[in-house]
Amino acid sequence: MSSTKVKAVVIGGVNVKEKDKLITLFSLEKGKLTISMRGVRGDKAKLKSAKEPFTFGEFIIEEGKTNIITGVDIIDNFYDISKDIDRYYEACAIIDVVNKIASGSNPPLFIELIKALKTICYENVKKYYCLDKFLLFVFKAMGYEFLTSKCSSCGSIMSTMYLNLEIGELVCPACKNALCVKVPNSAYSAMRLLANTDYEKLASVKFGGMGEIQAYDILRQNFRFRSGYEVIKF
Ligand SMILES: [Zn+2]
Repeated sequence: MSSTKVKAVVIGGVNVKEKDKLITLFSLEKGKLTISMRGVRGDKAKLKSAKEPFTFGEFIIEEGKTNIITGVDIIDNFYDISKDIDRYYEACAIIDVVNKIASGSNPPLFIELIKALKTICYENVKKYYCLDKFLLFVFKAMGYEFLTSKCSSCGSIMSTMYLNLEIGELVCPACKNALCVKVPNSAYSAMRLLANTDYEKLASVKFGGMGEIQAYDILRQNFRFRSGYEVIKF
């Protein structure tokens, strides 16, 4: 048996047997991993606090027939996320997206995840801002550079725009088809502002209207088309 150490975040888990848990990690070094934590649901279990979602730390994995976690150095458990229901759901949506799209090592996605969780936990940022920004990052990383001012089909400058769900890009009224959803101007400016503002500065961003909620609705539909999965609705 050999052991290896990974820097990772707990992005999911299911209870197994009486006191074990099978947790899903998203690690910097190896991407997504599903690993067993033995006896971890017992009251006195040493690794008890490391099994919770959002836990960020260095996990020691004993590799054998079944991989098991034998030690964890917690870097941050983002405890405050769980104290606020809105923050909790927003962070759950983010780890769920990672769980659905991640496979192998993906350092940019890992860094984005840590930044998003940190911001939700410690900064006073309006609901949906971090999640919208995170989804915009995911699409960009998938190769959909969709916040353009020119129609992706005919190249004309758009004053009214639609997201073509089939291709994951913006089009003008003349190029729209049945698989297009209207992107209200408020949602478009919200997405641009969120995409161009660092997480560290997100707390100072405020815009009127419901741009971030309309944006979330559009981003959810886009995620469904791009990945085949739903983002948690809250
Ligand atoms: Zn067009």
